[in-house]
Amino acid sequence: MIPNTLLVALSLLLLSGCIAAESLYQILGLKKDASDADIKKAYRKLSKKYHPDINPDEAAHERFIEVSKAYEVLSDTETRTIYDRHGDAGLKQHEAQKQGGGRNPHDVFAHFFGGGGPAQEQKGPSMLTNVEVNLADMYTGRNLEFQVPRKVICTHCHGSGAESESDIHQCTQCGGQGVIVQRQQFFPGMVGNVQMTCPSCGGKGKQIRRACHLCHGNKVIDTQNTLAVHIPAGAPEGYEEIFQGEADEGVDWEAGDVIVRIRSERIEGRGEWTRKESGIMGRVTLSVAEALLGFERNLTHLDGRTISIQRKGTTQPGEVEVIEGEGMPSFGDIPQGDMYVEYSVILPVEIADDTRIKLADLFNHQISHISRDEL
Ligand SMILES: [Zn+2]
Ligand SMILES: [Zn+2]
Repeated sequence: MIPNTLLVALSLLLLSGCIAAESLYQILGLKKDASDADIKKAYRKLSKKYHPDINPDEAAHERFIEVSKAYEVLSDTETRTIYDRHGDAGLKQHEAQKQGGGRNPHDVFAHFFGGGGPAQEQKGPSMLTNVEVNLADMYTGRNLEFQVPRKVICTHCHGSGAESESDIHQCTQCGGQGVIVQRQQFFPGMVGNVQMTCPSCGGKGKQIRRACHLCHGNKVIDTQNTLAVHIPAGAPEGYEEIFQGEADEGVDWEAGDVIVRIRSERIEGRGEWTRKESGIMGRVTLSVAEALLGFERNLTHLDGRTISIQRKGTTQPGEVEVIEGEGMPSFGDIPQGDMYVEYSVILPVEIADDTRIKLADLFNHQISHISRDEL
């Protein structure tokens, strides 16, 4: 069975039984008559595909080195000619004459793409934290500190997972290469070499004898991260502050972001004010007399100021009074909001008979089932 970690069939060997190395042209997926432009194009495509920053697999890294090496040779007219005429042996001789020759594949890459890698180190997962605050905090603005759990690179082993440097050993199965090459029979008559990730070390090329006592070989430890959020006055519901690189650390990625999302508490019956976008809503309960004859009330705003409202006339149950400019403060493009006070009227549960009669007289209202004579 071919393992699914099988990455590259380095070479297929047809009938003859001798192992033919892949030519530099084959590495780039090209034929011998490829133009300079073809070579460039193939390299651009493959080097991105196998670049360690994009493809962290050890075997991909090996391939990246091969691809870079092939490009280095074939993109240079002199070395390409030597290779075409004398093959690998000719190249080796040429390199030996130049002393040291071969360049770092990462340098080739940087040279080709004009510096830097193709992409930044892979970013770890982001974390979303929902925080509920008092509406008053969103009205006046507030600084808030709180803690979120965070995994960080182990402070003892610095992410190696080993108790000490001397506990890290080269993998015996792959000799530190991270890959092993196995001969495989694909089907009768066709045998080839397959390069696969070393099952012993998982492609790391290293083995750990004694795990770190602090992280138990996990490479990361649990901590609490303190974040200080600034909630601006008038912040809308769902306002977000992003803390870049404050999410879990990992050895294979750059820490992601923590997104803190702010909203106001929605607890029924708590606080007299609620919010609808930039508006602030409140309720005032009136007695029958107040609803009929007028009233005076002092309301305490979210910031503690007193808002006085008064009326001489009648107030309908359910009527909403708008107090302009007393809603949430303006925020960005969102203008200052208004305050909305909704009135409700409470009727007495019971009325004494003599009061009923007085009221009936007052409203010129007929009462059928109570006779005045009974009183
Ligand atoms: Zn550790
Ligand atoms: Zn290994």
